[in-house]
Amino acid sequence: MQLIFAEYTFRLDVEEGVGIPQIPVHPIGYNDAEILLRYLGGTAPPDESWKGSLKVNYNIGPGFIGHDSFRKVRMHVHNINKITRIYNVIGTIRGSVEPDRYVILGGHRDSWVFGGIDPTSGASVLQEVVQSFGKLMSRGWRPRRTIIFASWDAEEFGLLGSTEWAEENVKSLQERSVAYINSDSSIEGNYTLRVDCTPLLYQLVYKLTKEISSPDDGFESKSLYESWLEKDPSSENKTLPRINKLGSGSDFEAYFQRLGIASGRVRYTKNRKTDNYSSYPTYHTIYETFELVENFYDPTFKKQLAVAQLRGALVYELADSKIIPFNIQDYAKTLENYATDIYSLSKKYDQQLRDHQVSFESLFSAVKNFSKSASDFHRRLSQVDLNNPTAVRIMNDQLMFLERAFIDPLGLPGRPFYRHVIFAPSSHNKYAGQSFPGIFDALFDIENKADPRSAWKEVKKHISIAAFTIQAAAGTLKEVLE
Ligand SMILES: [Zn+2]
Repeated sequence: MQLIFAEYTFRLDVEEGVGIPQIPVHPIGYNDAEILLRYLGGTAPPDESWKGSLKVNYNIGPGFIGHDSFRKVRMHVHNINKITRIYNVIGTIRGSVEPDRYVILGGHRDSWVFGGIDPTSGASVLQEVVQSFGKLMSRGWRPRRTIIFASWDAEEFGLLGSTEWAEENVKSLQERSVAYINSDSSIEGNYTLRVDCTPLLYQLVYKLTKEISSPDDGFESKSLYESWLEKDPSSENKTLPRINKLGSGSDFEAYFQRLGIASGRVRYTKNRKTDNYSSYPTYHTIYETFELVENFYDPTFKKQLAVAQLRGALVYELADSKIIPFNIQDYAKTLENYATDIYSLSKKYDQQLRDHQVSFESLFSAVKNFSKSASDFHRRLSQVDLNNPTAVRIMNDQLMFLERAFIDPLGLPGRPFYRHVIFAPSSHNKYAGQSFPGIFDALFDIENKADPRSAWKEVKKHISIAAFTIQAAAGTLKEVLE
């Protein structure tokens, strides 16, 4: 165990706290919320995204409508504000060949109430993976690289445990981390697999899900890949299962969005076509109990087993493969798609693009160079002498540091801790991922900006940052000493 708040840490006053809401905020139940929302007066919601599915107007106040305008709501909140100690539990298996290369499996242990699903269905998977690796070790196995298991505290308070540990160890982590796999809730539904990860991991996820049995009814003797592909094919390419962008809302944030460590998360999820609600209905409530999991979500525990197998296999392969199992050509393809997407979005403002001389030329050219470097890299990788440790290490370092190459040390506008130029949590929904967040945010609502000239200048700046970063990342893939 490790004390993560050192005594010498400088503390801000509570009023200056980062990420602490400026208005009173407290979660309440559906029935109370429905009544309060139905009678809220004041102005209409600023846009459609404020509206949920209740049959109310979603006015935003202040005060109530008509006869009820005089009413007040009194909140009795029994929170205790105090500085307290939190504990991360860290376990390591020292790598036998490359002990200075880390693969991290981390998940949180704290919960809102009982935490039957969030986090226990994930914290238990972390424990199971630790047990399995322990068994392998008792048979004499040692991974090639070091594996770090982390049970985080205080995730629900703002990802505190995982962020503190990342900050405390930043200098070693950014030099030595190969990948971070998250082990939060392993179920948010019981329909099919859900994967959010860096494009570097797509191929590894496809390969491993083909080796794991599907836990789904009607898919006996089929693979997890087969049931996943049939139930949730990708929107862009129906021959592949869907993989999502990483956003935030869990402990991988500091590792991926801030440090640029290749990251991924996998879990079981609901049917996105029929179950049109965010997260799951009992999310973070007192009803999230073990009984809920045992009686309704996963009575056979097969879904959680499949998730445990996948998380464990990802860590195993990342830690033990001689060549780090990343695919850079998938990153190139993904960048092409994202560049096309953001360009199509901007075409809405065709006239303004011309008036303000905004061009995406540099971005497309950088992506093209990156694709070329990626295929050259993989050609060289297929020819590398596996018996030459230095040659292997050089290629592995290029693979490991590629994600890091997408980090802009200056961060995104107003969000200095989100530094990945390709991915960020959406500015409108922290759980969702946004590609080319700098350009996207600069374009957002641009028709209503007071000063169009400076607004379009901002767009140009972010196209340039993206192009520069991709070009620089492509440079890291070149043959060393070429
Ligand atoms: Zn959680």
